[in-house]
Amino acid sequence: MTPALTQLESRMASNGGTATAVRDFMEKVIARTHGELEFHQAVWEVVDSVMPVVESTPAYRQAKILERIVEPERVVMFRVTWVDDGGEVHVNRGYRVQMNSAIGPYKGGLRFHPNVNIGMLKFLAFEQVFKNSLTTLYMGGAKGGSDFDPKGKSDNEVMRFCQAFMTELYRHIGPDVDVPAGDVGVGGREIGYLFGQYKKLTGRFHGVLTGKGTNYGGSLIRPEATGYGSVYFAQEMLATRGESVEGKVATVSGSGNVAQYTVEKLLQLGAKPVTLSDSAGMIHDPDGIDREKLAWVMQLKNVRRGRIGEYAKQFPGAEYLPGRRPWDVPCQLAFPSAFQNELDAEDARTLVKNGCYCVSEGANMPTTLEGINVFLDAGILYGPGKAANAGGVAVSGLEMSQNAGCLRRSSQDVDQQLQVIMRSIHENCVRYGQNGKAVNYVKGANIAGFVKVADAMLQQGVV
Ligand code: NDP
Repeated sequence: MTPALTQLESRMASNGGTATAVRDFMEKVIARTHGELEFHQAVWEVVDSVMPVVESTPAYRQAKILERIVEPERVVMFRVTWVDDGGEVHVNRGYRVQMNSAIGPYKGGLRFHPNVNIGMLKFLAFEQVFKNSLTTLYMGGAKGGSDFDPKGKSDNEVMRFCQAFMTELYRHIGPDVDVPAGDVGVGGREIGYLFGQYKKLTGRFHGVLTGKGTNYGGSLIRPEATGYGSVYFAQEMLATRGESVEGKVATVSGSGNVAQYTVEKLLQLGAKPVTLSDSAGMIHDPDGIDREKLAWVMQLKNVRRGRIGEYAKQFPGAEYLPGRRPWDVPCQLAFPSAFQNELDAEDARTLVKNGCYCVSEGANMPTTLEGINVFLDAGILYGPGKAANAGGVAVSGLEMSQNAGCLRRSSQDVDQQLQVIMRSIHENCVRYGQNGKAVNYVKGANIAGFVKVADAMLQQGVV
């Protein structure tokens, strides 16, 4: 057994009956994808849930659905060369991982972050396949990005980088082919520059990116959708116990797009968010982050592009804890909304010990495999990212349909659709994840997402 597999196995409590099949399968995946640790983690989590379904469905086994679903249909890697304000030439690496197009054109965000590598993007693209399937819309899964770090760069530098990135990417995308969106480090500013360059190169005003400005084809509520959706998903989970978010204390990590709109929706629904973070540390505000404080954070992060630590200077009741994450602050609800693997087993145990009983993931794979097991063993309401944060891509899907039909839906209409979709994702998770009285949302999301894609792959033959 490879060291990577031994390590993974010790971190995951497998489905008893299919543990050997999962291990054998993972051994082959790891042998073909050396060093892609986050991809291995994401694949293990899905395969562990779906193996009983695969084992009991001869057609899936014969068509080698599992072997095909872990292999990207296409990976594009390219050089991105640009010049900074001082005239120095920089070389970055760009990627697009087109993972699966069984149920629709490829769809998934672009991440600009110095740690981006092929393993990270394969994990994100793989997650995206199941997430997109769960939304009930017709979208395949993809992810892309670059090791470019937008932090500390001028607007002109970001623009030149985005133009250089799109100068290669435009050949591989299109409204019926692949429709990228934002992710970490790619917000409205970057999408605007990317769209401008696509239009310049192709001469076409296509709905080729989502998350666009609302004055040039973007959907209302798209910036809000991931954070709002994650809170709606928490509401659905809480409703199974006759509860709601109202009056609850909530911890939120991150302070970017997802975290900001998670806080906004929590406030609208009467909860009390008390934390935010960034890659340098966290703030704890026992009085609660209210609307005014949130508006200040949005200005800080989206306009001034400063650090969250400044919050404690602005609002003296709050404390800044450098290098820390929010998980030892007592709460009933937790919304990890920053980065993968930001919540480990110890954090999970601390959350549960302090009374947290509902976790809804705005980020992708923020909880480690060991952390997930702590939540499942404790029987708390745990909504994994591919279900809980699917609201963003769902509204991207609505943006695509608005662009195709030259339509414009109202905020109220889109928000209504978002709530309907989050409810339907929750219902599907319950349908496939009911476990006695409790619901295993990990299993439910993985199986519901998988079955739809697997059946489409079967129907389309060996391609
Ligand atoms: P943003 O770039 O807007 O914000 C990212 C946040 O995460 C920032 O607060 C950033 O801090 C923090 N962060 C970055 N790196 C680390 C790290 N290594 N450790 C701890 N915190 C870190 O991104 P989004 O809000 O869009 O994305 C957040 C998460 O949500 C990601 O996992 C993303 O994949 C996921 N997601 C996003 C969707 C969307 O619609 N945007 C859709 C579905 C999922 P700093 O400012 O210091 O970099």
